[in-house]
Amino acid sequence: MAGEPQADCLFCKIVAGDVPATVVRETETTVAFRDIHPQAPTHVLVIPRVHYPDAAALAVAEPGIAADVLREAGEIAAQEKIDGTGYRVIFNTGAGAGQTVFHAHAHVLGGRGLNWPPG
Ligand code: 5GP
Ligand code: ZN
Repeated sequence: MAGEPQADCLFCKIVAGDVPATVVRETETTVAFRDIHPQAPTHVLVIPRVHYPDAAALAVAEPGIAADVLREAGEIAAQEKIDGTGYRVIFNTGAGAGQTVFHAHAHVLGGRGLNWPPG
């Protein structure tokens, strides 16, 4: 069923606690944890507890939870104290754009200068 945990999904396993992660914040609908290969001094992933393959699919099926992910990205930026200097929220979508885990997630990056446009 849509949104149900997927046995082969790494982030569903993190939500379930079956794969360890450095969790920095949790809500009823989201989990935020440090990226295992940080690309900036602060690099946190915010994921919905429910499984959808990407952010757009999440937004169509569960717009309220998509909004929760966005709000949590801002909460993480404040908690990590990168809101003052600026930060970036990224949803890689599709393998061609660098998506490697097909469970919707926001990257929250900050703590260094961020070039525009990104690579
Ligand atoms: P994507 O490439 O799909 O946009 O982002 C997936 C992210 O998940 C990558 O930045 C990658 O470093 C991170 N990642 C992959 N495996 C793990 C893991 O086991 N634990 C954590 N915390 N992050 C992971
Ligand atoms: Zn999943």
